[in-house]
Amino acid sequence: MKRTVDLHTHSNKSDGTLSPRELAKKAKEAGLSAIALTDHDTNNGVAEFTEECEKLGIEGIPGIEISTNFKRLMHIVGLYPHGDRYETVVEKLKAARLERNVKMLEKIHDRFDITSEQVLEGTGASKESCGRLHMANALVKFGHVKTVSDAFEKYLKRGRPCYVEKFSLSPEESVRLIKDCGGIAIWAHPVQAIDTESDMLEMAKKLKEAGLDAMECMYNNFTPDESRLCRSVAKRVGLLESGGSDFHGSNKPAVSLGRVSEGTVPYEILEQLKTRI
Ligand code: AMP
Ligand code: FE
Ligand code: FE
Ligand code: ZN
Repeated sequence: MKRTVDLHTHSNKSDGTLSPRELAKKAKEAGLSAIALTDHDTNNGVAEFTEECEKLGIEGIPGIEISTNFKRLMHIVGLYPHGDRYETVVEKLKAARLERNVKMLEKIHDRFDITSEQVLEGTGASKESCGRLHMANALVKFGHVKTVSDAFEKYLKRGRPCYVEKFSLSPEESVRLIKDCGGIAIWAHPVQAIDTESDMLEMAKKLKEAGLDAMECMYNNFTPDESRLCRSVAKRVGLLESGGSDFHGSNKPAVSLGRVSEGTVPYEILEQLKTRI
């Protein structure tokens, strides 16, 4: 049988709903050969995750997804980064996220009279692990908006009333950090940051100079055109391709572990990426 991988997933150490252990079990059930845990700005789940993967006989990859300071949603996934310098920066990212979460939860409280306890209730998340997705789900649940994307559009994205800026690295700094710390650097869901080919090409070149290894060309909701665009840019710049579901458990119920819009991600994609370490 063809071996498959998922190189982009979340646990409840950020805005997923499964614990790292449960995520590993689900990966085993789904028949994946390898899976990366890439929580937002934290590696809190990695030790539990890789231990469980090892027990189950699947390849558990320690990872992270760094939120950068780019004007739109620009995330850099790192696979295998490690070491003291890495841990120090991650501690800083975690602290910045907690500080921002507290401030955003306050704004939501002031505006909608929803307490932070109500936002987090039943999610298993804490003020440290939660993210805007929890806040968006709460705004839907309490009837202030119809959909999660409305919540982001009206209140939660940069420039909207409940948004709070936090310390974050630039895209180039994020890539350099991952490379300096022995990892593989991947531009996650590129079309969420940039939609024109010329701008994507320009950014890809800049990030390649900083050390970028790959672009995520297979994703849960990419259209054939979006995958084609990412692949064409990656190829022109000399970058590899990566793929992942961006699984978030029941926080994003439409997304299935191990599934991208094209089907599954072949193990060969991971083998190619590993040559970049
Ligand atoms: P945070 O890491 O807390 O800043 O939140 C970022 C996360 O929110 C992303 O990884 C997505 O899961 C989600 N997100 C951001 N923008 C949107 C959007 N427009 N619609 C739905 N989910 C979004
Ligand atoms: Fe997320
Ligand atoms: Fe992301
Ligand atoms: Zn993600």
